[in-house]
Amino acid sequence: MKNKHYDVIVVGLGSMGSAALYHLAKSGLKVLGIEQFSISHDQGSHHGETRIIRFAYDEGMHYVDMALAARELWQDLERQSGEKIYHPIGGIYIADPEHGRFVDNPIKVAQTYKFEHEIIRGDQINARFPAFNLPKNFHAFYEPASGYLLSELGVETHVKQAEEYGAEVISNAGVRAINPGPQTEVITDKHAYTADKVIVCAGAWSSKLMPELSKAITISRNVVCWFKPDSSTEIFNPDKMPIFILSDENGAAYGFPDCTGGGVKIGIHDEFSPTEIDTVNRTVSDEDKTRIRRYADKYFNLAGAKIIDSSVCLYSMTPDKDFIIGAHPKHDNIFIAAGFSGHGYKFSPVIGQILKNLAVGADVEFDLSPFSPARFMD
Ligand SMILES: Cc1cc2nc3c(=O)[nH]c(=O)nc-3n(C[C@H](O)[C@H](O)[C@H](O)COP(=O)(O)OP(=O)(O)OC[C@H]3O[C@@H](n4cnc5c(N)ncnc54)[C@H](O)[C@@H]3O)c2cc1C
Repeated sequence: MKNKHYDVIVVGLGSMGSAALYHLAKSGLKVLGIEQFSISHDQGSHHGETRIIRFAYDEGMHYVDMALAARELWQDLERQSGEKIYHPIGGIYIADPEHGRFVDNPIKVAQTYKFEHEIIRGDQINARFPAFNLPKNFHAFYEPASGYLLSELGVETHVKQAEEYGAEVISNAGVRAINPGPQTEVITDKHAYTADKVIVCAGAWSSKLMPELSKAITISRNVVCWFKPDSSTEIFNPDKMPIFILSDENGAAYGFPDCTGGGVKIGIHDEFSPTEIDTVNRTVSDEDKTRIRRYADKYFNLAGAKIIDSSVCLYSMTPDKDFIIGAHPKHDNIFIAAGFSGHGYKFSPVIGQILKNLAVGADVEFDLSPFSPARFMD
């Protein structure tokens, strides 16, 4: 029997793949999306309820325009689906005096782009947002347009809306092989399919599926914990506490107010623990919890708060922490989106749109040269 043929197959329907599927289906293409687990799950990089969205991006100016475009697309998706995914509750970047550059750099970006922002001190933050308990000499930058995205809901909504546009979706079916050719073959345990173009968005599994990416991506195990305040729970509500990123001598922590009633979420951003996808330790240890509790105790009115939940999530780090987006260096009808280095979720709708444009040969309005797959692939 002949394999079923598509214009485009998307492998992996997490953050990026779900968005790519949506934009492809919306363009009227015949598309198939294949996901190894359920649509949204807790094994990859998009689980744990929330992701930060921010705009004064100091990781590289090329990200700022993409963040602004992503916000428009999140809002389009909300209008179309009726779901509320983007919550602009405000965001605060905080640093101790020795790590001021982590606040000064975003301030420069905000000034360049004329983004609404405020520069405030630790004691002013404590007065305005009583969840915080910061030393007076810490300084901070407040961006009102920052906030959080509901991350599993974003993935589910992209897939559901793609299906409304006619996309076919297969879940709980891992792709075992991709055989390049003019009609690329995509093989799962049970079936084979062909497509003119294939887009691979396999997250932390990217180099397992495409070993030629092994020099490009290191997987890192990252832990987050949810704290339940003992009292004054209202000061941790999203209308009273912004999302935050805090830099001190131990690195950078980030977190969220109690967005959904499940507690205040705190994680450590720059603690990279390299691991392998098949052997990653998915159990949160007491040591993991102690490292995160240090931030809760020191900088918030959360001393003694119980950790009511915790989770292991995976970053796919590239050597330069820039993303990998573009055509496979050896197969120009296969496109890769991977290596989102712990900061990709907010961009997912714009990356989905870029992938659609690459697949149909349309112009892309962003400079993709910093993201070239060829920089790490032979
Ligand atoms: C703890 C944590 C906090 C983060 N915080 C932020 C934040 O605040 N803001 C932000 O912007 N970003 C944040 N990130 C980063 C962001 O979540 C990731 O960059 C983003 O989710 C990566 O998307 P992805 O599509 O590459 O991976 P995923 O969303 O994991 O999707 C990959 C998908 O491919 C599927 N797949 C893999 N192999 C196969 C196969 N062979 N066959 C079929 N399916 C397959 C997987 O099952 C998975 O569903 C955070 C990440 C973590 C872990």
